[in-house]
Amino acid sequence: MATLAFWLLFLAFVGAFAAQVARRVQLIAAAPNTFAVDNIPFRVRRFLTDVVFQVRTIRERPLAGGMHAFVFWGFVAFGGYTTVEFLRGLGIVDFTHTAWFATYRLVLTPFAIAVLVGILYLLIRRAFVRPIGLGTHVSVESIVIALFIATLMITFLLTFRLPEETLAGRVNWWAHALVILAFLAVIPASKHFHLVVSPITVFLKSPELGNLPNLDFEKEQVGLETVKDLGSKMALDAFTCVECGRCQVNCPAWGAGKALNPKTIILQTQEALLAGAREKKLGEVYTEEVLWQCTTCGACENQCPVGIEHLPILIGSRRGLVSNGDAPSYLGSMYNNLERRSNIWGLGYDQRTKFVQSASLEAFDPAKHDLLVWLGCAGSFDADFQKSLRAMFDILRARKVTFGVLAKERCNGDPAKRTGNEYMYQELATGNIDDLKAAAPKKILTSCPNCVKTIGSDYRKFGYEVEVVHSSVFVEELTRDARSAKASRSMEREPSGERSRVTFHDPCYLGRYAGKVDEPRALITRFGGDIKEPERNRDNPYCCGAGGGLLFADKEEEPGSRISDVRFKQLQATGANTVVTACPFCSIMLKGAQASAQADVQFVDLMTFVKDRLDS
Ligand code: SF4
Ligand code: SF4
Repeated sequence: MATLAFWLLFLAFVGAFAAQVARRVQLIAAAPNTFAVDNIPFRVRRFLTDVVFQVRTIRERPLAGGMHAFVFWGFVAFGGYTTVEFLRGLGIVDFTHTAWFATYRLVLTPFAIAVLVGILYLLIRRAFVRPIGLGTHVSVESIVIALFIATLMITFLLTFRLPEETLAGRVNWWAHALVILAFLAVIPASKHFHLVVSPITVFLKSPELGNLPNLDFEKEQVGLETVKDLGSKMALDAFTCVECGRCQVNCPAWGAGKALNPKTIILQTQEALLAGAREKKLGEVYTEEVLWQCTTCGACENQCPVGIEHLPILIGSRRGLVSNGDAPSYLGSMYNNLERRSNIWGLGYDQRTKFVQSASLEAFDPAKHDLLVWLGCAGSFDADFQKSLRAMFDILRARKVTFGVLAKERCNGDPAKRTGNEYMYQELATGNIDDLKAAAPKKILTSCPNCVKTIGSDYRKFGYEVEVVHSSVFVEELTRDARSAKASRSMEREPSGERSRVTFHDPCYLGRYAGKVDEPRALITRFGGDIKEPERNRDNPYCCGAGGGLLFADKEEEPGSRISDVRFKQLQATGANTVVTACPFCSIMLKGAQASAQADVQFVDLMTFVKDRLDS
């Protein structure tokens, strides 16, 4: 009788679970296939660190992440126990009186205590502490799930006290089994579905941060216009979100009070898919205003513990808007500049030529030069940044490094690509690639982190591979022998005789995308700087606000605060008198913020900082 009752309940609850899962699988399967499983060793390594060892979950929030890890490891450890008890309940086979099962139960005891402690901590955090990333209202569903998990652990521990042949023992067994069945029925429609899908999502996440496959114009690809264009990985992402809010609290746009919230983007995707709104325009799902607020800093994707990728959705939707002529007007002028003059400011090419001549730069010759120096738009036309490049040239020449430049450069295409103008990006990129192939450099040196990412990484999607190194990395290696004598001499130059109090702003495309965080710091320390780290540093910096085409946005019309102002205040709060930068666009944005704040802080580009303290 009990077995029959259990069978009926089992079929009802498992049926409810299967129907909900099937609906989600169907939606994922109906989406254009964007799953990729390249670079298996990297994916396996990340699966081990992020899923098995929960490193990403623990790293940023050690206490909450550690408690979550207890629950996850307990969930895995209890898998066998649940299976054995269900096989018994269904009358299929009974292993519960075997010696190995008795040992297994004992092994599970510390797991049960750890899960209980973990889930009670998470319950209190969610219900009473309520960190902002978890949302403004207490989720009843989360409380119920937490109580389910706590009940499972308590009923398991009670099995050691309540003999199963007693009434209390039988009630305890049924309570445990019914909670598992209820749990099964509830999770697919809740954020706890991540328990089932997140291992797959993490494995399928691209090894490349902000991965944007080129559009194939021959196949008439134009980007994402409506819900039905969202790819299968995007749909999987939408059903994986655990609503932890890590993307939200790390997003500089959200932090500056703008409407963009990367967590909301993922939840809106989920809602649109479940509503079957296949023809709905993505500009209506997310709103166009929000889509243009992203700096493409990558913080959301990098912080997400369950493998969700926000940038393919955000930039994919921008591509759809641009293909329909719906880009904001400030981008229209930038596109015009790129089209007419191949640089973001639309300046005449003679200005670059003048700089090349005045800096005595030779035309690159692979037989004669060690390096090709890529100037970039800023290096070609921005007088301020050219001072930094001259400093870099002095360092290279003093160390007998030979280098040359291309006779002509176009913008690398980053501002076009990240604002969704894929056609223009491909025009610029393929033109540059032709010139680079003809010049045949073995190594490219640049002081622009965006050029490192675009030429060194994005151009690979056209089959062009070359080593592109940022000046901080190259010069750090080049000046290692300068350590003690030069550093002590540089200290003598400070009026107080003390080391300069310096803070370093990590550019997103250097710190987060390229992971180069030690080299700039090694240079600053080597040459007399005492680094005061700002809030948000190293591989999780707060963006300067220039990325994703926002360098060109009208600052007066920005909703909320300016991202650059927020970052400048964070840098100022370190008490440092010098801010060192390593990206021309970060420098432009932060100097603008400094001017608005009328603050007495000195900005120095890293190459100038080094050159001023290095004897030639
Ligand atoms: S890339 Fe940066 S700005 Fe864009 S949504 Fe993510 S965190 Fe926000
Ligand atoms: S997208 Fe990722 S980081 Fe953001 S709320 Fe969802 S699970 Fe958390």
